[in-house]
Amino acid sequence: MLLLIPGPVQTRPETRAAMAQDIAPWDRDFQAVYARIRERIVAVAGGTPGVHATLPLQGAGHFVTEAAIRTFVAPGAKVLIPMNGAYAQRMARLAREAGRVVVELPLTDTRGATAADILPALDADPSIGTVAMVFNETGSGIVNDAPGIGDSLRARGIRLILDAVSAFGVLPFPLADHPECDALVFTSGKCLEGMPGMGFAVARMDRAEACAGNAQSWSLDLSDVLANAKRAGWGSIRFTPPVQAIAAFDVALDLYEAEGGQPARHARYRANADALYDGLVALGLRPYLDKQHQGPVIVTIHQPADPRFDLMQFVDALKRRGVLISNFYNTSAPTLRIGAIGAITTDDIRRAVAAIGATLDDMLAKAA
Ligand SMILES: *Cc1c(COP(=O)(O)O)cnc(C)c1O
Repeated sequence: MLLLIPGPVQTRPETRAAMAQDIAPWDRDFQAVYARIRERIVAVAGGTPGVHATLPLQGAGHFVTEAAIRTFVAPGAKVLIPMNGAYAQRMARLAREAGRVVVELPLTDTRGATAADILPALDADPSIGTVAMVFNETGSGIVNDAPGIGDSLRARGIRLILDAVSAFGVLPFPLADHPECDALVFTSGKCLEGMPGMGFAVARMDRAEACAGNAQSWSLDLSDVLANAKRAGWGSIRFTPPVQAIAAFDVALDLYEAEGGQPARHARYRANADALYDGLVALGLRPYLDKQHQGPVIVTIHQPADPRFDLMQFVDALKRRGVLISNFYNTSAPTLRIGAIGAITTDDIRRAVAAIGATLDDMLAKAA
């Protein structure tokens, strides 16, 4: 089966094979792996050793996003969220339910947000101390200009929390150049092509220490993750993590480096997304995004405006041809949502486009 979804992604056999072992989380051999992964992640993030630390948190991406908001935004404080997609909405809900005051900035979901979109909202409300935003919006495929927005926040002394879950490892945001960023968060199962199960925040240690006591939660307290590491070592854990997923992630990082790191992975995903976009247009489908706003991670395409088209039936029929795509959409109009990430190449994409064309023919043309 070819998995074309924006995570968990198709992985390499070497990565999956690393899971086939029993592991004790406090074992010294495993502690060395855990500590090494933390260092490797700071390097991928373009962070500064001694300034930035990797603060792992077991679970889905939402858990580490909530942890970052709880840790770096004080209870009752204001956080501005640019609202241009499903993951921004999820971030807003996490923040609101954690008792933070969310200022929503409504924007279109068909192009990425820039500093020019954000600054008027900050001018209008000087009590906003933090912007929390999504880097790559996995709902539609747009990319928000996190580096440009970060630069303008830095100039104003405003903090940034970045949901880089579907961007990390592919879209650069070098933390050493962005001291305004308290934390960026990502997971093991997306662009680094590991197994799902682990979230990671890469955070400023000074800020994590200054924010101790904010979280109002032990399990979601990144300040406590840091305090524990400082007390008990970088290989130590607070609670049982998905040890097999972590072992696999170490191998996934090997493969990432062997491929050539961020530039190589970005180039491969970009080529995948372009082949997907062009291939679907050649089938006569209408893309949701203009080409210049199409990021390298997922492609969304309008569903055929034909009463015989049914998304669930389409996804099931396509699966019988060996290709699995999302059976839901979260754009404002009905779309097909197809991932360009994972251990796949443009050959896989061409095969998938042919399967999509054949499935549509079965569903629409032949029945006509
Ligand atoms: C995948 C994703 C998440 C987290 O999703 P989980 O299902 O909680 O792992 C968060 N933000 C973005 C932008 C994502 O793509």
